[in-house]
Amino acid sequence: MISVNNKEFLFTPIGDYIIPAEKVAHVQLGNNAEHALLVLTKTGYSSIPVLDAQDRLQGLLSMRTVTDSILGLAHIEYERLPDLKVGEIMKTDIPRILTTDRFQRGLDMLIDYPFLCVVEEDGTFVGILTRRVILKELKKYIYSA
Ligand code: AMP
Repeated sequence: MISVNNKEFLFTPIGDYIIPAEKVAHVQLGNNAEHALLVLTKTGYSSIPVLDAQDRLQGLLSMRTVTDSILGLAHIEYERLPDLKVGEIMKTDIPRILTTDRFQRGLDMLIDYPFLCVVEEDGTFVGILTRRVILKELKKYIYSA
């Protein structure tokens, strides 16, 4: 078991560790699945946030979700991509964390997810908290203990 004597860092606000919204690739509810596929492919991210016109978080979209939505019985129906809206196919049951939450909550939740969407109380999307950033921070504390 790792022993880190000073555990104060667990209570620091997550604010400092957030990748801000303007640096996060995302899609809009009304975008079509073809556009979403392009964004996912070009950025190389496995999953990205879906926002509404007021920048509120509505869901997540992954490459798998897009592929699933056009999976026919015999082949993948690429021709349906322009007609499908992101809002119809996105995953809405997603983990989220508040800007006011602490490092410890982020750490606990990131055991199950590669990244978390960070929102204000009213759902406004602020950015993401990634497992990578939190692990780096944890490493700093462990090595300096
Ligand atoms: P990483 O921590 O870079 O390995 O990212 C883990 C996951 O977080 C990626 O696969 C994406 O789903 C998401 N992610 C990380 N950075 C971004 C970003 N700038 N824009 C959108 N999604 C991101």
